[in-house]
Amino acid sequence: MEESGVNVINLNQCDEEFIKYLEKFGAHSLKECIQCGKCASTCPMALAGLDFYIKRIIHAATLGLKEILLEDSSVWGCQSCNRCVEVCPMDIKPYEIIQAVRRAAVRDESCPANTYEGLRNLYKNGHAVFPKGFEERRKKVGLPEKPPTLTSHEELKKKFQEILKQTSLADVAPFKLD
Ligand code: SF4
Ligand code: SF4
Repeated sequence: MEESGVNVINLNQCDEEFIKYLEKFGAHSLKECIQCGKCASTCPMALAGLDFYIKRIIHAATLGLKEILLEDSSVWGCQSCNRCVEVCPMDIKPYEIIQAVRRAAVRDESCPANTYEGLRNLYKNGHAVFPKGFEERRKKVGLPEKPPTLTSHEELKKKFQEILKQTSLADVAPFKLD
């Protein structure tokens, strides 16, 4: 998108099929986004200073810029707070669009490596974010090496994994769901 210090968008990159895919999850018509910026005004991603924040993501989605959206890791900075959905005057459901972009990125295997790590942790340990390297310190203060999760209960773990196997994780996980 950046070329010689000037923002350039090649509209030939517009992927109409991608727009239709996104509209299945969010707004009935992305083109109804009026670029008012209310979503950005409340979004922690924008407050954190990410350049490619929610308003720009929705703009790129409206233009069908699939390649740019999947290549940029900003969508993974979304905190799932849902504030954008509450404030959007056009019912675009920006958070749902972010989730749809993430699903497309996972299918395309273009999401950040730590996302796969999170999925693997979720499946194996019941926590997407699992603390590593704190085992000794936790033991010293009388805590178990790992925080208790459903994996502390073998039966629950099996049930949880069976549920995950019935979700789209089974299609997209880059590791075996055994
Ligand atoms: S709040 Fe809704 S209408 Fe406004 S820029 Fe964000 S998505 Fe578009
Ligand atoms: S759900 Fe994501 S995109 Fe929406 S306001 Fe929260 S962090 Fe921003």
